[in-house]
Amino acid sequence: MNQGQYLINEIYYTIHGEGKRYGIPHVFIRFSQCNLECGFCDTEYESGRIMTGQQILEEAEQLTKVADHQDVTVNGAKKHGRYLPQIPCRNILFCGGEPLLQIDSDLITLLKTQDPPWFLAIETNGTRAVPAEIDWVTMSPKVAEHAIVPTKVNEVKYVRGYGHGIPKPIVQADHYLLSPMFDGEMADPKAIEWCVKLVKENPQWSLTVQHHKLHFGQLR
Ligand code: SF4
Repeated sequence: MNQGQYLINEIYYTIHGEGKRYGIPHVFIRFSQCNLECGFCDTEYESGRIMTGQQILEEAEQLTKVADHQDVTVNGAKKHGRYLPQIPCRNILFCGGEPLLQIDSDLITLLKTQDPPWFLAIETNGTRAVPAEIDWVTMSPKVAEHAIVPTKVNEVKYVRGYGHGIPKPIVQADHYLLSPMFDGEMADPKAIEWCVKLVKENPQWSLTVQHHKLHFGQLR
């Protein structure tokens, strides 16, 4: 890839499906390529299109554009206008693959120097350092604890199945999350029950569920 170009698997606008930012709308920028080959991986990250930072920005702005006005119905009568000012979404979530293989200071600076600047969140596997300008870091470690690079993140998230133990993370986090294992797009009720038990016994942890898998069609 040339300087200033990125291989992007997909860009779409939806609400965040898990973690402490669940329910908040974000433009998802899914980068192609990963530095790991996890056996359980269910993400297609090989294919992609080459984009410049400017093209990524324009696509994010296009997806989040709001109409200048809208009609609303109040007590059966159609009214013209709005009751709240419409402010376009300014949240981006970088994901992948492993987004930190490609994210660089040029892309971050471009997004951060817009008016208003974009809030930048990232989902990483913990194998790369995270630039300080990223506003929210979610780490879902896929390597042994001693191999994890970031030392402080906003949230650390572990997938747990029935019978798995409580993780012992080295990284410091504001939020420690357990995510029950899924069987494809089906939640495993035994894994949910088990994670609830773990959280009740270890209350510094909280439960997160992959709502985007449960309600995939609706959330897109
Ligand atoms: S780190 Fe994530 S995207 Fe990469 S192979 Fe593992 S599960 Fe898949």
